[in-house]
Amino acid sequence: MSDSTITPWVVGNWKMNPMQVNAKQLINEFKELLNKNEISQAQCHLAVAPISIALHLVKDELKQANRTVHVVAQDVSRMAGTGAYTGEVSAALLKDSAIEHVLIGHSERREFFGDQPHIIREKVKHALAEGLTVIYCVGESLEQRENGQADQVVLQQICDIASCVTAEQWHQIVIAYEPIWAIGTGKTASPEDAQSMHAKIREGLKQLTTLGSTMPILYGGSVKPENAVELAACPDINGALVGGASLNAASFYQIAQAFAHTK
Ligand code: PEP
Repeated sequence: MSDSTITPWVVGNWKMNPMQVNAKQLINEFKELLNKNEISQAQCHLAVAPISIALHLVKDELKQANRTVHVVAQDVSRMAGTGAYTGEVSAALLKDSAIEHVLIGHSERREFFGDQPHIIREKVKHALAEGLTVIYCVGESLEQRENGQADQVVLQQICDIASCVTAEQWHQIVIAYEPIWAIGTGKTASPEDAQSMHAKIREGLKQLTTLGSTMPILYGGSVKPENAVELAACPDINGALVGGASLNAASFYQIAQAFAHTK
């Protein structure tokens, strides 16, 4: 079971969206909603992950927000530091640009961009070494679930990074459980299924680290205002990684409210 002191996280993953003018509008609408002062810092961590060339635009817009909204990179290079690696952005460069959070291991990167476990390990290692917070994504495919392999796949993905995380670095990690069959499909895992997997992840983390009971475990996969309250009510669901619904300021805000007020 989760430590009841875990502050929930609600993170918007904008993926390869939207155009710059719309990104500006989206973040400004969200800022307006935050002005209602209904979601305190203590109730919920908030974050958005725009495309890399919009990280600064969004960060600048959020400087006038009435509370912290973290800006998250959607990926990071497997290469460290600086150097001749065309097209790459390292953890050191993110840190140098005051980007302190990064998604690693999203299923879309695993599926389309070759993020194999050994590559993910390098990304995690460098991000942690730079002091970044890593939102590490795990999740099984529909086929794996139907074959009864979901637990094994997800727990293996957690174990995949264990060798590159030092004892003190576990507090820099947030886990996001995202069943692949629920991402962008409109199908959400039932709260019971999600809770059951989160409880198993929690047990797995406890075996790996003494910080296991305090690490946030987010759920992702078609989270929307309509299902956020019941997901937030599950004891081991400590927040949400939200794709599609985060592109609508009102929807994202309602999801944040659900987690801030249900937890
Ligand atoms: C995601 O991309 O991380 C995600 C969960 O997407 P969606 O909410 O659209 O399913």
